[in-house]
Amino acid sequence: MKIKTSGYDYGECEICNTHLQEKCIKQDFWIRGGLVIVEDVPAGVCPQCGEKVVKSEVGLLITKLIDNAEKIEKAPKISVPAIKFEM
Ligand SMILES: [Zn+2]
Repeated sequence: MKIKTSGYDYGECEICNTHLQEKCIKQDFWIRGGLVIVEDVPAGVCPQCGEKVVKSEVGLLITKLIDNAEKIEKAPKISVPAIKFEM
């Protein structure tokens, strides 16, 4: 399903009241102990503080996507740095 990414007004940022700009973002989710990244998610992003807002319909589609174990299994894998916290 293709979601129209332009023309939606996300309104103001709840934190700093800056007008949100629509961008395609990457969102990361921990699912069953594994990190899954969903790319090209249309979201309202605050240019001031970085707060991100997704439409409820987009949120629902993401929930469906990350519930699809087969799709996740077939997705290209990337490796990410994992560092330990140090005092
Ligand atoms: Zn903000």
